[in-house]
Amino acid sequence: MASPEGPGPCSLYIHIPFCAGACDYCDFYSIPVNAGDPRLGRYVDALLADGEYTLAAFGITQVPTLYIGGGTPSLLGPERMGRLLAGLRALLPAPLPEITVEANPESADGPFLEACREGGVERLSLGVQTFHEPSRRLVHRVGEGAPLPEGLCLVREYFGDAFSADLITGLPGQNGEALRKDLEQLLSFAPGHVSLYALTPEAGTPLVEDRRFTALLPPADEADRLWLTGRDFLEQAGYGQYEVSNFARPGRASAHNIRYWRMENWLGLGPAASGTVIDDRAGRGIRYAIGADVDAYLRASVGDRAPAPVPAEGGVVSAEALDSLTLMQETCLMGFRYLEGPDPLLFVRRFRRDIRECIPRTLTRWRDRGLLRPDKIALNREGLLFLDPFLTDCFGELEVRGGDWFRSFTEL
Ligand code: SF4
Repeated sequence: MASPEGPGPCSLYIHIPFCAGACDYCDFYSIPVNAGDPRLGRYVDALLADGEYTLAAFGITQVPTLYIGGGTPSLLGPERMGRLLAGLRALLPAPLPEITVEANPESADGPFLEACREGGVERLSLGVQTFHEPSRRLVHRVGEGAPLPEGLCLVREYFGDAFSADLITGLPGQNGEALRKDLEQLLSFAPGHVSLYALTPEAGTPLVEDRRFTALLPPADEADRLWLTGRDFLEQAGYGQYEVSNFARPGRASAHNIRYWRMENWLGLGPAASGTVIDDRAGRGIRYAIGADVDAYLRASVGDRAPAPVPAEGGVVSAEALDSLTLMQETCLMGFRYLEGPDPLLFVRRFRRDIRECIPRTLTRWRDRGLLRPDKIALNREGLLFLDPFLTDCFGELEVRGGDWFRSFTEL
């Protein structure tokens, strides 16, 4: 798949699939553990073996960003997180990447934050979600260790404003007043970045399957209003929206996530992680996904055998080819989430076409409705609220036009 020069810069995502409990709205893969679980230490060893194997298998020589997410990475504690960071730094090519670690403020104590700082972490991403106790209890959002505000004070001490905090709108029991208090309290810690997510009830989670919870959710129009209230509050406080759910002060946008929205390459390590590596010269890519089973992952990395980014091997990893049309659709799917839009130069390099030639009818229709930026091939702030119908138009047009282009494209 990779060209002889290798696939170019490639980000690294590491999944830590452990949590102290299970929040009722969450559909990320994680298992409940306590800090003494012996799998935590073995998991660090497995990740390092997997990282060494995977970076070599894809011939990666540049890693611009590294993101350790979860789950709850702060559950690793200081010693294991320090060992993971030191091991990764030894594996990664120079220069070292921007490193972000996710943490829950309640379990990110001083020694953990110190281990992160010493390990080269530049940015923390904190799962706050809400300070509103009734909503936290209703979704079984566990808090352990120090109370939330104390945790945030400590993070501020170690990382200044180089941290992001997630808030959720539309939670059971939440109203406008509770959201306003959440925002005021969070901004009193002056994070450089805030992610404001509208709660999406995911199939299979208790929030959807259990009628007692569904009855407590705000109605859809009230949930929409809550999110818009939050957006306006953040913008008035100096946080610029740069993606559907993300807001930052100048210089504090997430470089790692921008690479996803621009459909750049990334490798994922750990159960339920995936990776996408694109050969720009061929306009095609490969995606692999690691099975969501931490015990299978640990078994597969016994000794020096790391989970391999190929199909088979006990079903630990599956892989699929991304053809040019799928890749172009995904480049639009991710790129139009971002207020800058898909990267026009990358689009030409990857598909040998100007994006304006690919979706002319969609762009004209949405420009006429006043929902595109005048200076970019991108949705404007209001247009982002209609991302799904925009993408439906966009995909429909690509389906109709795409077949002919890519026939001629592969013949070149
Ligand atoms: S702590 Fe985060 S990853 Fe873990 S269950 Fe709750 S929302 Fe999901």
